[in-house]
Amino acid sequence: GHFEEHDLNSIIEQSLELLERELAENNIEVKLELGQGLPPVYCDDRQIKHVFLNLILNAVQAMGPDHGRLTLRSFSVMREGKQFVAGEVSDTGGGIPMEVVHNIFNPFFTTKDAGSGLGLSIVHKIVTRHFGQVEVHNRGSEGASFLVTLPAAEEGR
Ligand code: ADP
Ligand code: MG
Repeated sequence: GHFEEHDLNSIIEQSLELLERELAENNIEVKLELGQGLPPVYCDDRQIKHVFLNLILNAVQAMGPDHGRLTLRSFSVMREGKQFVAGEVSDTGGGIPMEVVHNIFNPFFTTKDAGSGLGLSIVHKIVTRHFGQVEVHNRGSEGASFLVTLPAAEEGR
């Protein structure tokens, strides 16, 4: 892959743009809460775009055509003394059933009729390759949130 310093906000915005049509067709309201002045992340932007595409697409599929709300947030966080930049994708779909949540990152695990079950396993692989983390916050029937944290680019790297 090709690693460079990138602005996570513009990667998130580009992912959103690619799914503009799906979002409109499904009557999904989009709320953007992108942090300002975030440090860049050192990443392969195409791969990270793929991460957000997968997460947003899953959110769209979870909400269906019935007036869901997609919230995209970004912010910086400190973890173990290091700075990370986080991107969060939250939906108002049905959430993830308790009994399947531990399986969702496994390749080929799907609850969809025509799902490949590969999306989240690829997300996990890409984020891990970037020394980041992906976490799911299941909010029960209020929906699901996925949080991706990537290390901030260090000066002079
Ligand atoms: P696929 O989308 O092909 O099913 P994924 O790996 O992307 O495969 O997702 C695996 C499973 O995780 C989905 O089938 C679904 O059960 C669950 N899942 C993923 N994202 C969400 C979400 N936003 N809301 C509810 N369930 C989800
Ligand atoms: Mg998927």
